[in-house]
Amino acid sequence: AVPVLEVRDLERHFPASGGTVRAVDGVSLTIGRGEVLGLVGESGSGKSTVGRCVVRLDEPTGGSVALKGTDITHLSRRALRPLRTDMHLVFQDPSSSLDPRMTIGQIVAEPLRLHRLVPRSGLRARVEELLGQVGLRPEHADRHPHELSGGQRQRISLARALSVGPDLLIADEPTSALDVSVQASVLNLLADLQRDRGFGCLFITHDLAAVEFLADRIAVMYLGRIVEEAPTARLFAEPLHPYTQALLSAAPVPDPALQRTRERIVLSGDLPSPLAPPPGCHFHTRCPVAVDRCRTESPALRELPGGRRVACHLAHPDSRLSGEGPSPAH
Ligand code: SF4
Ligand code: MG
Repeated sequence: AVPVLEVRDLERHFPASGGTVRAVDGVSLTIGRGEVLGLVGESGSGKSTVGRCVVRLDEPTGGSVALKGTDITHLSRRALRPLRTDMHLVFQDPSSSLDPRMTIGQIVAEPLRLHRLVPRSGLRARVEELLGQVGLRPEHADRHPHELSGGQRQRISLARALSVGPDLLIADEPTSALDVSVQASVLNLLADLQRDRGFGCLFITHDLAAVEFLADRIAVMYLGRIVEEAPTARLFAEPLHPYTQALLSAAPVPDPALQRTRERIVLSGDLPSPLAPPPGCHFHTRCPVAVDRCRTESPALRELPGGRRVACHLAHPDSRLSGEGPSPAH
C-alpha cells in the first residue's frame, strides 16, 4: 500500500549570522494509513520544522515529501491547494490559529467553504455536527475564541481538522500549551478521533507519556536527525540509542516501583546549537558511552530487525550497547 506520508532525506538549512542552521538535516520517515508516528525530541531538535516542512509552511531545502504517493516538495501554492483537504496541521497554541474576530461557527465553516465540501445551506448543520464530534455544543458556534477555554479552543482546531476529512493529521504539541488538568481529555479526544476516522498522524511532542499513549511507532530526533526509531512498546522496553535511554530514564513513570528498575541517566551539558553541530556523532559531546571514533565518524541510521532503526556505532539489537556485554535475560 502507498504510505500516506513518505519523507526522504529532508533538509531544512537556512542562513543565520555566523553560518548555516541545519534545523533538519537528512530526515526520512514513513507513515502508513491509519498509523500514528510519534516524533519526539528536545526543543531545538528540529521536530516542529519537520512538521512545518511536510505542510510546506517551511520550505524544505533538500529531500522530498510525498503525500499518498504524490511528490509535493516543489508544488506551487496553487497546485498544493486541493491537497489541503488531505493533510492538516494542528498547532500547539490554538489561539494563534483562530481568528479572534470570527465566531466559532465561521471558523469551523471556513475550510468547508474554502474547499466547497458542503453546500451553503448545509453549513450550519455540518458545523454543529463537527462541534458535537469534538465534545462541544451547538451554542458554541455563536461564541468567539476568547470566550472559550484553552482546551475548548484546541477542540475547535480539531473540529476544523476533521471538517476536511484528512488522511494525514500533523499535530505539533497539541496539548502542551493547555492546563495539565485538560491535557488528558484533549489527548483522549485525539486518540478517539484517530481511531474512528483512521487518519495517519504525525504526532510531534516532547511528552513521552503522551506519545506512549498515542503512537504506534516513535522516532527520536536529536539536532536535526533521527537517532532511533522503533515500535512504541519496543522503544520503551529496550531503547538502543544512548540519547533515547537518557530521555526515557528521565521520564516520570506512574508506578514509582518501575522507576527504580531504570537507572536515571543525567546528560551533561546543553543541547549544542544547530548552527554548529558537533562533528562525528552529533551526540558525542553529551554521550555517556562515547568512544574515540564517535568524535570523527557520523553513525548511519541502520535498519535492525523488528522495524527498528538506530544511529549509534555501539548499539546492537541483542545487547543494548556492545560495550556493555549481553543484556540480562527477561
Ligand atoms: Fe554515543 Fe558514539 Fe553512539 Fe553517538 S555513536 S550515541 S557518541 S556511542
Ligand atoms: Mg516545537
